[in-house]
Amino acid sequence: MPTEQLRYLSDELGKLREQKLALKLRILEDEQRPVSHFDGREVINLSSNNYLGLTTHPKLRKKAVEAIEKFGVGSGAVRTIAGTMSLHMELEEKIASFKGVEASVVFQSGFTANAGTVQAILTREDVIISDELNHASIIDGCRLSRAEIKVFPHKDVEACEKILKELSGRGGRKLLITDGVFSMDGDIAPLPALVALAEKYGCIMMIDDAHSSGVLGRNGRGTVDHYNLHGRVDIQVGTLSKAIGALGGYVCSTRDVIEFLYNRARPFLFSTSHPPSVAATCIAAFDVLEEEPQLIEKLWSNTRFFKEGLKRRGFNTGVSETPITPVRVGDAALAHEFSRQLFQEGVFAMGIGFPTVPVGKARIRTIVTATHTEEELTQALQIMETVAKKLHII
Ligand SMILES: *Cc1c(COP(=O)(O)O)cnc(C)c1O
Repeated sequence: MPTEQLRYLSDELGKLREQKLALKLRILEDEQRPVSHFDGREVINLSSNNYLGLTTHPKLRKKAVEAIEKFGVGSGAVRTIAGTMSLHMELEEKIASFKGVEASVVFQSGFTANAGTVQAILTREDVIISDELNHASIIDGCRLSRAEIKVFPHKDVEACEKILKELSGRGGRKLLITDGVFSMDGDIAPLPALVALAEKYGCIMMIDDAHSSGVLGRNGRGTVDHYNLHGRVDIQVGTLSKAIGALGGYVCSTRDVIEFLYNRARPFLFSTSHPPSVAATCIAAFDVLEEEPQLIEKLWSNTRFFKEGLKRRGFNTGVSETPITPVRVGDAALAHEFSRQLFQEGVFAMGIGFPTVPVGKARIRTIVTATHTEEELTQALQIMETVAKKLHII
């Protein structure tokens, strides 16, 4: 029975429900695919981060099963005690050579990679300069580090430089940190300019490439490769949970930085490592990135096809430059209603409102994958048009 002490949480939840802001989980009843069953309904799935369809790729499945047969289902310890398996090391070497860096370390998730790294490398003497739309895991890492936090307006290079000028003469280290691709708007960070600022003002430069791993750059090497900034970014984070299709996050840097993280990154030290099947799956995924470049080509041709279809129908797709395409409607209640009616008609696209995005900028967010067919995307566009007209969105 819930205790009297916790009744305030029921009250808080009640308020969220009244404002229609309480989340309801959609339940996936089969595999994560372009057309899947959620809550008993078959829908065209525009909500997953499974960019390349790797969650169900036969090579990845096979490697996962083989690893279970050979190594069991769990690692049995944290990495720093007995939980470092040869598969973990093999994956890290694979990532480092794929990204063209000295070394990499894998965390349990992209979230722990960001939060654990930022917390570990800074102290309360230091300062962080951070884009206002950076991911929650970066924000948490910044807070846990106890460094001073300076936030610049989204992608505003001039404002960023102004902060850096004001900080000149301040002691301590400076970390300039940004998402490579922003998860709500699908736009790309102005990395060449930010990297130049980091160099000019002596900042550590760190990029979170969660939505660009497997999506941007040669064979999905990420935004540093996309902009050809090799050797100029101190720390790159990527995720294994989105395009890579499994679970995890990684940090790329020098060998010394990686070994420092072995010693100081709290999720690495205090939370159990991946099961062998996850490590084996990810190793296979990097092979697929090299062997099947047509997946990334298809992802981008589907992206162009779908964006053009949206624009032709009069939708406002904001500033997106990637497979993440928001469809802006403004009002949060309208976004949620749009999403709900789309689901009834067979399209799954999440409604997103405040506090995830600013008031007045509510949208549904769509993500196409390499595995959608043009027929599926056309059908989704037609359904979106019909429902949007009914709701006077277009
Ligand atoms: C999804 C995401 C993460 C977290 O990655 P997980 O592997 O899912 O924990 C971190 N940063 C950004 C920008 C993301 O979009």
